[in-house]
Amino acid sequence: MKMTPELKHVRDKMLPGVITSTGFLGSDSRSLVDIIQADEEKAASLGLDWEEAADKLFLFLEKGKEGLGETITLENVWQVTVHEVRGFLPCPFGDGLHRKHIVEVKNPSEQILIHYSELSLHLLRTHHFLQGKGSGFRLEPGLLKKICDALPSSLSG
Ligand SMILES: [Zn+2]
Repeated sequence: MKMTPELKHVRDKMLPGVITSTGFLGSDSRSLVDIIQADEEKAASLGLDWEEAADKLFLFLEKGKEGLGETITLENVWQVTVHEVRGFLPCPFGDGLHRKHIVEVKNPSEQILIHYSELSLHLLRTHHFLQGKGSGFRLEPGLLKKICDALPSSLSG
């Protein structure tokens, strides 16, 4: 992927106060291409499957919604809370709107704590964009790999 004027425009939309108050980049000064490429390389070195990671985060979202705002526990160890937030956020890449719902996933025994929105999940699946370093919604490839390894594909609970 090359840095194009369109991508520069996309990056501008990720700054604080444009789509969300805190933005998507944290303290990261790299270009979008550099951020995505570095994460793709990291994912490849870890053996992380992007689709599997997206599917599993989607599963938490779908199962978590059944809690209607309360925390539910899956497989005895995964504590999932979906905070329903009204409204939609546009993808900074300009290809759709996503609900603002926030998913929080905790697994204390694996030392996993992440939270993400439906937009974060779309950015992961469609654009391989995990957000900049220092962003509160950044999804580290290492953590995603840990989740893929620890969470069975078919859940009970
Ligand atoms: Zn998009």
